[in-house]
Amino acid sequence: SSTQACLENDISGTDNKGFKGHDMLAPFTAGWQSTDVDPLIIEKSEGSHVYDMQGRKYLDTLAGLWCTALGGNEPRLVDAATKQLNTLPFYHSFWNRTTKPSLDLAKELLDMFTAKKMAKAFFTNSGSEANDTQVKLVWYYNNALGRPNKKKFIARAKAYHGSTLISASLTGLPALHQNFDLPAPFVLHTDCPHYWRYHLPGCYLFLLTLTFLLFLWCNKPFSVEMYMSGETEEEFSTRLAKNLEDLILKEGPETIAAFIAEPVMGAGGVIPPPATYFDKIQAVVKKYDILFIADEVICAFGRLGTMFGSDMYNIKPDLVSLAKALSSAYMPIGAVLVSPEVSDVIHSQSNKLGSFSHGFTYSGHPVACAVALEAIKIYKERNMVERVNRISPKFQEGLKAFSDSPIIGEIRGIGLILATEFANNKSPNDPFPPEWGVGAYFGAQCQKNGMLVRVAGDTIMMSPPFVVTPEELDELISIYGKALRETEKRVEELKSQ
Ligand code: PMP
Repeated sequence: SSTQACLENDISGTDNKGFKGHDMLAPFTAGWQSTDVDPLIIEKSEGSHVYDMQGRKYLDTLAGLWCTALGGNEPRLVDAATKQLNTLPFYHSFWNRTTKPSLDLAKELLDMFTAKKMAKAFFTNSGSEANDTQVKLVWYYNNALGRPNKKKFIARAKAYHGSTLISASLTGLPALHQNFDLPAPFVLHTDCPHYWRYHLPGCYLFLLTLTFLLFLWCNKPFSVEMYMSGETEEEFSTRLAKNLEDLILKEGPETIAAFIAEPVMGAGGVIPPPATYFDKIQAVVKKYDILFIADEVICAFGRLGTMFGSDMYNIKPDLVSLAKALSSAYMPIGAVLVSPEVSDVIHSQSNKLGSFSHGFTYSGHPVACAVALEAIKIYKERNMVERVNRISPKFQEGLKAFSDSPIIGEIRGIGLILATEFANNKSPNDPFPPEWGVGAYFGAQCQKNGMLVRVAGDTIMMSPPFVVTPEELDELISIYGKALRETEKRVEELKSQ
């Protein structure tokens, strides 16, 4: 395919010093990629850059996988790990035994999360484990309350919640379901809140023909302005909240246990919520006694310009998932925060049963907790939230200035997270033929010019480290511009063929 061709031509490694192909079954990698194209082997990192085996330097615009918030060589995190490794490299947290770093980190997280009071922290090794834990906590909670039928979860189309069996079920991306016999039957998906792609356009005739159907469907007429200019963000949010409510009523509110959402959708394409979305969704969820889980795995610790995504959108969750920037990715760790309403029920139930029988060998691993504590200390000392707010306008505005490009449909983002979506005629309904590999070509041009981006079809995603400098942002914007011009040329050629 064209995608394959442009990867082979532009980004295959030249000399991997004997490391040919993959002995690994590589995650999220196509079979042909690992057999036909030498892997890009990253050997060293420094600030916002990484280096491959040939010593080539790349600006790492995704901060690894949205996670190395403090960049590639923060010595204090290395010292924190070393100190803990030299004192107590491991002890577990089962049977009321634990370690000081895990207790300290639990307290720190509970103090930090102020959008809603949280009472307990549970530690995992990853975001996927955190979301699997959420499902077990919610089921345990409803069993304790004598509501054995209240077990279904509602997630959203294009959500990413992980790749274990349950978290992949919550995920709303077909690729994580196909050929894995997923999603699990207790998981339902509601609308993706992507305004640009899914709002009803202001085409008068089109809407006129739809009016009758919409009237029947929503039992509510739409405003004249909407016929003229299309659905506003608020109207779009109202419609999505109504769809959610309809789904709950169709399934039976007594069967729906929880709703899970990322404040800003990440891997599904960086989708910030439309205006009033979370207010309206939370009202519906609350009305039917459904728990709200905020998956803050990407959004937490400053990425959006607030300490947590819940602060940005006034979300008052019952449960929170954390990972990634929790340790700036220097050690694998995730966490679940549990509100007092939920943890009280879980505690009383586990007293009855004799134990709360869930946990991982490495839950609260002391080295991971020590590194996370140090990362949080640095976020606070260096006013990282303020820093993100100071620096992110350059990132957002610098890239959004390319929105006029004829091949760009939308550039969207907030704080230090952003996506570019390529589209034919700038329309959400007119994608480029997949075999043109427009996104892959852009990604390859970036890589050739010393920059790594995340390519998902024709969507390009970026979430640089919080420590990205103004000079590095200049570099980012300049390489982006160069790659865009090359991609525009390529599209012109393909169109004229
Ligand atoms: N939730 C969200 C929002 C994520 O972005 C991710 C990872 N990209 C996960 C959960 C899963 O985390 P992990 O890969 O650490 O299991």
